[in-house]
Amino acid sequence: MSKSASPFRSRELHPERLIAPYARPELEALVARYGSPLLLIDCDVVRAQYQRLAAALPGVGLHYALKPLPELAVVATLKEIGACFDVASGGEAELVRSQGVAPERCIHTHPIKRDGDIRDALRFGIRTFVADNVDELGKFVRHRRRVEVLLRVAFRAADAVCDLSRKFGCDPAAVPELLSVARRLGVRVTGLSFHVGSQTPTPTMHVRAIEACAALMRAAHAGGHEPLSVLDIGGGFPIDYQQPVMPIEQFCAPIRAALAALPVGLRLLAEPGRYIAGPAGTVVATVTGRAWRDGRWWFYLDDGVYGSFSGQIYDHARYPVRALRDDGERVVAVLAGPTCDSIDVVDDAIELPLLEAGDLVVGSQMGAYTSASAGDFNFIRRARVLAVNQHGAGAA
Ligand SMILES: *Cc1c(COP(=O)(O)O)cnc(C)c1O
Repeated sequence: MSKSASPFRSRELHPERLIAPYARPELEALVARYGSPLLLIDCDVVRAQYQRLAAALPGVGLHYALKPLPELAVVATLKEIGACFDVASGGEAELVRSQGVAPERCIHTHPIKRDGDIRDALRFGIRTFVADNVDELGKFVRHRRRVEVLLRVAFRAADAVCDLSRKFGCDPAAVPELLSVARRLGVRVTGLSFHVGSQTPTPTMHVRAIEACAALMRAAHAGGHEPLSVLDIGGGFPIDYQQPVMPIEQFCAPIRAALAALPVGLRLLAEPGRYIAGPAGTVVATVTGRAWRDGRWWFYLDDGVYGSFSGQIYDHARYPVRALRDDGERVVAVLAGPTCDSIDVVDDAIELPLLEAGDLVVGSQMGAYTSASAGDFNFIRRARVLAVNQHGAGAA
């Protein structure tokens, strides 16, 4: 595919080496060189997050869900260390393919697909798909010799920040009937999947869903179905924002215990997105101006909720934000985005130094569901994406 026809936004790779926590002169130098706003993606952090989750969930094949941060550098970094991938659209499949990822390392998890979506994924070589109803199973009849399907079951974590089981997934009670329909259609169902919701503060619903799936698998077997041999436990693994969450080892311990109680020989998968991408992203924005309104300072940035901070709207996230210059008098201020819309406010009451035009503001934990959901409202340029620390330890 030629560069101009690429479905991807401008994604740039830079050989910058940057050691976290990033020092002020380094960030100032990057802005001087590449402009503002910037979204820095730290590939060292991508690697560390993947490895930490892999260690917390031994025996579980981690498939990075591209949705939170569909960036070349992230895919390339994860590919190098043996990760698998979870794609949900033709664009995501094209992105992993462009990085030379083998299709056997990918699953397609969108529960609702057009025939063209299935065909595109099959042409790339993906064989594992997800369905959650009779109509979707029917779409695989013509491809039945080439696909295996996971049934997505809905389990809702009441405490998840983002509910992903309202829109997708079948009622657990519907699984036996769906298995029967699949058998009649000749569509091979090999397992179950779920996604209890994103940024779940406790593992309670993961554990309950694993136990419920185990019971569904036993019932299917007893009902004479081919044994279900795959369990995909989805994503949801939480990260610190303004509020810290439990360490991932503690979060995964009861999940490990629940998985250990399953029959041996099951293939276990997970689809982490946020956990891998979130901590890797840092946004650097610049104050464009300020005003004193109604007894308060307003500082205006060149990035806001229509840009990298879009996750404050769509993802209900509150990012840790600080000024790079951290001296002198502090004031409680409003931090506003660049568009002419009044909703474009990053924080209504944030303690900051008395900033002025040109000062830099840094948002951390901003890799997931940030630039991915940003737009070009007001025709304001999105943050430029810069990947740093692209090559493994030892590279310059
Ligand atoms: C969004 C999504 C994910 C990633 O979820 P996180 O909570 O970010 O880990 C995984 N799988 C599917 C099907 C999704 O839609």
